[in-house]
Amino acid sequence: MYSKEHPFRRLVIASYRLPFKFTRTTSGFKAVQNSGGLVSAVLSLSERMRSDQEAGMTEKIVWTGIADNIPVDVAPAEWENDRFDLEPVRLNRKLNDQFYGGFSNDLIWPLFHYFSTYCIFNPAYFEAYREANALFCEQIVSRYRPGDYIWVHDYHLMLLPQMIRERIPEAPIGFFLHIPFPSFEVFRLLPRIWREAIVQGMLGADLVGFHTHDYTQHFIKCVKRATGFECHQNVLFTADRIVKADAFPIGIDYHKFHDATSLHEVVAARAKIVHALGGQKLVFSVDRLDYTKGLLLRLQGFEAFLEEHAEWHTRVTFNMVVVPSRANIEKYKKMKKEIESTVGRINGKYSTLSWRPVIYQYKSLPFAELVALYNASDVALITPLRDGMNLVAKEYVACQTEQKGVLILSEMAGAAAEMNEALIINPADHHEVACAIATALEMSPVEKEARILRMQERLAHCNVFTWASGFFSQTYEIIGRQKQLSVRLVNREITSRMVQSYQAASHRILFLDYDGTLVSLVRRPELATIQKNTLDLIRRLSADPCNRVVIISGRDKDFLQQQFQDAPVTLVAEHGYFVKHPDKDWIRTVRADESWKESVRQILAEYVNRCAGTFIEEKSGSLAWHYRNTELDFAQLRLHELQDDLSELIRHNSDLEILEGHKVVEIKSRRYNKRVAAATLMGNRNFDFVLAAGDDKTDEFLFQAMPAEAFTIRVGFCPSVARFNVPNPAMLLKLLRSLN
Ligand code: UDP
Repeated sequence: MYSKEHPFRRLVIASYRLPFKFTRTTSGFKAVQNSGGLVSAVLSLSERMRSDQEAGMTEKIVWTGIADNIPVDVAPAEWENDRFDLEPVRLNRKLNDQFYGGFSNDLIWPLFHYFSTYCIFNPAYFEAYREANALFCEQIVSRYRPGDYIWVHDYHLMLLPQMIRERIPEAPIGFFLHIPFPSFEVFRLLPRIWREAIVQGMLGADLVGFHTHDYTQHFIKCVKRATGFECHQNVLFTADRIVKADAFPIGIDYHKFHDATSLHEVVAARAKIVHALGGQKLVFSVDRLDYTKGLLLRLQGFEAFLEEHAEWHTRVTFNMVVVPSRANIEKYKKMKKEIESTVGRINGKYSTLSWRPVIYQYKSLPFAELVALYNASDVALITPLRDGMNLVAKEYVACQTEQKGVLILSEMAGAAAEMNEALIINPADHHEVACAIATALEMSPVEKEARILRMQERLAHCNVFTWASGFFSQTYEIIGRQKQLSVRLVNREITSRMVQSYQAASHRILFLDYDGTLVSLVRRPELATIQKNTLDLIRRLSADPCNRVVIISGRDKDFLQQQFQDAPVTLVAEHGYFVKHPDKDWIRTVRADESWKESVRQILAEYVNRCAGTFIEEKSGSLAWHYRNTELDFAQLRLHELQDDLSELIRHNSDLEILEGHKVVEIKSRRYNKRVAAATLMGNRNFDFVLAAGDDKTDEFLFQAMPAEAFTIRVGFCPSVARFNVPNPAMLLKLLRSLN
């Protein structure tokens, strides 16, 4: 399973916590498994990997995490176990408080769960976050071996993928976020530098995974807004690599839960519960103590049920288990008090001598007891206000061996995207919760069975193993695509081939686009002026009598002339509408009717009003609508509308076309473009060295005009008809410098 599809030899996991707590015993140390979704998932996975004869995964899983539970005086041999190589990261108390308690839990956790008023924005926390991520990086880099797959988990380590990438560029890295990724409107509350660092940090991975499609789309939008990178079908084109973002809803070890219901200790625990209930129905919930779990609202929902459905009094009990978490923090202490007083109030109001409607337990449950409760409950009431996934919902369904339970699930839980046979509710709507409880209790056995069976089928199939295995195979799929693209990246060998060919030639022509090729793209095009050393390079190249240098651009002629002044180059302006040879005047290449401009100008003006930040550029032969300074998705929506509006006009004027460029759309005559211009300039002369470089969709026309042996180079990391890519203008200039 692992060796064939996933060519890694060793799995290296990085998460905030190690999977075990260590407690001293008289004979040494005892490892106790930590709770939480990731730990349950990876432990199940490690068991499977160990038992899988096919796997060839003879190596232990390396797990890097903080070591606050391993005393410094304990030798590594004492925490060794047969499944994991534990790699403790040691943080001092202050650093851990600011990194974990501060940035991670007082900012990212509330923000990503949409509790923005709980956020604390403290620059010292961000520095600590960076420092702690760097310490994780050191640990991983020092242990890395070729053949490792590095899997970074969760919101504590969002900078880590990029940090590792800088040190080990070739390492396969996956990143998985276990909490929601918020919409840009919430994400943008982070100071600009922090949000850019987070997005860039995550993009250091090859694959970035989330629980749901919505979280993935939010992330992609945030990347676009923070970096301007483009995305096609969930593949993000960063400056020098492609990275995939996708949804991988985490599953559970279905059979572990399903089969556990017949374990002796579970059967015994269940019998005790049934006996204690004395024929009453059982509504059950279990969560960590956290404001995201909607515990108070849940109690209020149950109270509304009692109020609205007196017929159920004395016939139903709600067992609410709250697992202690962050118990030393004031906000959590306060929340616990509020929960306890609400339970007291509800019980005070409705209890009878023989019936207590709410049984509240503040403790963690042993596995057998948890499974027994899942199995014995008639209703699971899972109503978080926001939850990345919620494994409890899935575990509950897995334990329904007699298919007689009903799951009530909040629409704010990631799990709701996959479990639509549950009764889906809004946790803030007490009445809806109350109705759902009544509906669940009164549901016919046939309907319960049908709903549970459908969910069980899905859970058995989409389990924790398929989750991990899908994640690994998608990582290698994207790595494969990166490799396909990177064979086109100009490297030392391609450079030396180019230099040899250049030196052997005596009739050379070089076509160079301007924006994004010789100068970097900027927000205001008028500021993209040429650097002195770039101009010197162009002068040097064009001074060689064997060379003909052509600057071929969409810019207007005055701008180009100003930039290249006395350099003996041929200038092609407005995609070929004007041409100027050294020491000659500009020639207009096309004579076309331009009466269409007035009506197009009016349409474009309307779009400038409807899409703030956009502007019209008026050129001699064309009109362009620039949308680089506005929200990209919004502009693209407007662009589609604009294309619709223009299509009528174009139908009536067969000479016109819409040319799409980088965040610009241009309306022009179809009689000229860079292909026509380049072909005309080459004529039928025999150049023995041809080079063409450009960064934009419009340069694809240029590449099309080139002979097969030409060195065609697309600047940027994206597919192209060009033979080669360089990541950015700086690399292209370096290449050009190496030619002469
Ligand atoms: N769990 C546990 N001990 C308990 C109760 C629950 O380990 O006393 C486990 C439960 O089986 C589940 C996990 O904790 O696997 C909770 O995961 P979930 O996604 O529901 O919530 P999280 O705590 O990760 O936000």
